[in-house]
Amino acid sequence: MHIVVCVKQVPDTKIIKINPKTNTLDRRSAPAILNPYDAHAVQEAVKIKKMLGKGIISVLSMGPPQATAVIKKSIEIGADRGFLISDRAFAGADTLATSYALSKALERISKENPVDLIICGKHAIDGDTGQVGPGIARRLDIPPVTNVIEVSELNENESTVLLKRKITSGYEMIQAQVPCLMTVEKEINSIEYSPMPNMIKAARYEPVIWSVNDLEDVDRTQLGLKGSPTIVGKMFTPPKPEGGIRLEGNADEQVKQLMDLLSDKKELFAAQ
Ligand SMILES: Cc1cc2nc3c(=O)[nH]c(=O)nc-3n(C[C@H](O)[C@H](O)[C@H](O)COP(=O)(O)OP(=O)(O)OC[C@H]3O[C@@H](n4cnc5c(N)ncnc54)[C@H](O)[C@@H]3O)c2cc1C
Repeated sequence: MHIVVCVKQVPDTKIIKINPKTNTLDRRSAPAILNPYDAHAVQEAVKIKKMLGKGIISVLSMGPPQATAVIKKSIEIGADRGFLISDRAFAGADTLATSYALSKALERISKENPVDLIICGKHAIDGDTGQVGPGIARRLDIPPVTNVIEVSELNENESTVLLKRKITSGYEMIQAQVPCLMTVEKEINSIEYSPMPNMIKAARYEPVIWSVNDLEDVDRTQLGLKGSPTIVGKMFTPPKPEGGIRLEGNADEQVKQLMDLLSDKKELFAAQ
């Protein structure tokens, strides 16, 4: 089984600052990391490979040359090889153009070694749209299964996979024909410590880097800013909530304060 995991380099949004003048992310204020959902996607590929006792795990990223770092991180987790598509032609891409460029790279990877399963994160913690995975599936005309929390069964003979996906009211089981694409939630697995040989391999690993000229049958009008119909109308930092009462002290004291406050307002609730 050939599994390709799409991995994105993102700023660590736990510490990133917002430029108050432009209302855009100040990317220099935070280190670049592997999108946390994508780390779980790579870990799941490793789990599937272990379960089957064979397979190849490739990772694919689109980004600037520095994005090789997330490919190395994926090798550390257990991926076998990595591809980065990097070119000025891809710059300024929205989710439509990103999924187009990634699907073209996937076609090239698949030509050399047919891809059975594509795994993406549920969403990237910076852009946060969750559109790229389903966008790739649509372009490659394969079924997408989103919000997967468990790979329950994999039948190589019948080329099917049984997936458990999270929905608002619980979960549902979906049987999909491979090749297919799934996007994963964090609870699908826990990230394991990387064994030393993986770390050594990652440190020495040089990902394959492709420019737009390395991809076949590319319609350049669908790439980068040119191929991005999304218009950012306005950017703003949501105002901090005003008012409210801060409860002080330990939990017992806070509960007492809350009960007193509610009791003072009881005629307000009675009126409703
Ligand atoms: C007009 C416009 C211009 C933009 N210009 C730029 C720009 O110049 N530079 C820039 O960095 N961003 C740019 N962006 C943001 C960019 O469009 C998104 O970051 C990108 O399309 C991914 O969308 P997302 O973050 O919502 O990913 P999601 O759809 O939330 O990601 C879901 C999953 O898709 C996969 N994935 C997503 N992106 C990648 C990737 N690049 N490589 C591999 N796998 C991926 C991962 O598995 C990820 O977990 C621009 C956006 C707009 C609207």
